[in-house]
Amino acid sequence: MSPPAPILVWFRNDLRLDDHPALFHAAASGAPVIPVYLHTPRTRSRWTRGGASRWWLHYALEDLHQQLTTLGSPLVLRSGTDTEALLTELMQETGAKQIFWNRRYEPDWVELDTQLKQALPAKSFPGTVLREPGTVSTQTGNPYKVFTPYYRACTKLGPPPEPLPPPSHLQPPESPVASDALSDWHLLPGLNWDTGMQEAWNPTLQGAEDRLEDFLDEAAGLYKDKRDFPDIVGTSRMSPWLHVGQISPRRIWHECDALQQTRGGGDGIEAYTRQLVWRDFATQMLFHFPHTDTDPLQEKYAAFPWNTDPKGLKAWQKGLTGYPIVDAGMRELWTTGWMHNRVRMIVASFLVKDLLISWREGADWFWDTLVDADLANNTFGWQWAGGCGADAAPYFRIFNPVRQSEKFDAKGGYIRKWVPELRSLSEKEIHAPWEMSCPPENYPSPIVDHRAARDRALEALSTLTV
Ligand SMILES: Cc1cc2nc3c(=O)[nH]c(=O)nc-3n(C[C@H](O)[C@H](O)[C@H](O)COP(=O)(O)OP(=O)(O)OC[C@H]3O[C@@H](n4cnc5c(N)ncnc54)[C@H](O)[C@@H]3O)c2cc1C
Repeated sequence: MSPPAPILVWFRNDLRLDDHPALFHAAASGAPVIPVYLHTPRTRSRWTRGGASRWWLHYALEDLHQQLTTLGSPLVLRSGTDTEALLTELMQETGAKQIFWNRRYEPDWVELDTQLKQALPAKSFPGTVLREPGTVSTQTGNPYKVFTPYYRACTKLGPPPEPLPPPSHLQPPESPVASDALSDWHLLPGLNWDTGMQEAWNPTLQGAEDRLEDFLDEAAGLYKDKRDFPDIVGTSRMSPWLHVGQISPRRIWHECDALQQTRGGGDGIEAYTRQLVWRDFATQMLFHFPHTDTDPLQEKYAAFPWNTDPKGLKAWQKGLTGYPIVDAGMRELWTTGWMHNRVRMIVASFLVKDLLISWREGADWFWDTLVDADLANNTFGWQWAGGCGADAAPYFRIFNPVRQSEKFDAKGGYIRKWVPELRSLSEKEIHAPWEMSCPPENYPSPIVDHRAARDRALEALSTLTV
């Protein structure tokens, strides 16, 4: 009897071995398994990976390759511009008769997968979410647009499915399959702007597991109280590993649940797992409203009179606005590829409301600089900041950057860390240094006056017809 034909398992945003339905089912079939990753940078128009996220991807792929080699079948890398042609070529070369993958839910991917399924013998499985888009709907069968009822509906469904175990072994193909060299993809920067990211992260599975263990041991129970303060490690910082799927949200959810069963942890842990549901919520929003990566969910905001202000945009990007909390956040982002959620909200509000620059400019910058740049979460966050999305903070609710700073970085520790020019300032001075009799000379004055900017934003809002 001839041996079964190999199965291609196409890895996408699920660079892991456990809780990987496509890999699990391919391995369970007993057929040889050929794990594949395709690099097709030019095929996906606007949202080609940004620099920071390419940096992370390099290490995640290197790590996955090692894990798969240990299991018996190394990762095959191929690059090109036509995904269908690459997969067809691989099938012809290897004699594979099926392709398995886990689903992605961003509009470009849904479109691509639909085309591929018509052309190739493909089978898809649930992707890196707790619950797939479309599985939680209102009583009338529509998608939820507001988080709280969505969360309630999820809770009623009980725990999300348990994560699948990793295969214990993979049957390799009869002969090795040619692979690109990862270094030839040039995912790492030519100039070494990544020193801060190297220091901040271990972008491997081990890094994810260490980070999660620390978080569960030390901070998860206190998450609810500490998550808003950027000067402490009060959140899990799991977003970049979740983004490339080195760890699955179901695994995190069930580890949290187990912790709660054994040790308690009260509403802190629930507040944390709720964030994983926010992640699903953002995913289902982009899935059901696929235009929202570029256009406002609430149509009337399409006519918003945004400013074109290259100087203001540059100052914001570089962390030179003269507002310490904003500048601290933007510099943290530039150095480490990550920013605390509270500060993301503050800097986003500042761009959109104080500078009146479109949320799309902010989303683009985040896309290029975040190691966790994720189309659904980024779109959702920016639409929220722009006041034009689901569950939106209405546009007229405008963050005061000084009040936010006083409230969430009261002692100024976060600002001192990222804005060294202000290190010697007192708790009282550090939030608004321009009010000092002798402000530091090496730090800019505010590029806008918040009160005037607020009035200008409200004026702009009033031009929209409701
Ligand atoms: C303007 C703006 C842009 C954003 N862009 C992104 C992005 O590109 N990628 C990204 O992963 N998150 C984004 N977020 C959401 C949030 O800021 C990050 O997920 C969070 O800061 C990551 O840190 P953490 O892992 O410590 O989160 P934790 O607080 O520990 O939460 C755990 C996980 O839940 C998910 N999560 C938490 N908050 C949110 C949220 N508000 N929306 C959706 N999922 C959430 C993330 O996967 C996160 O890793 C953005 C938020 C804003 C306001």
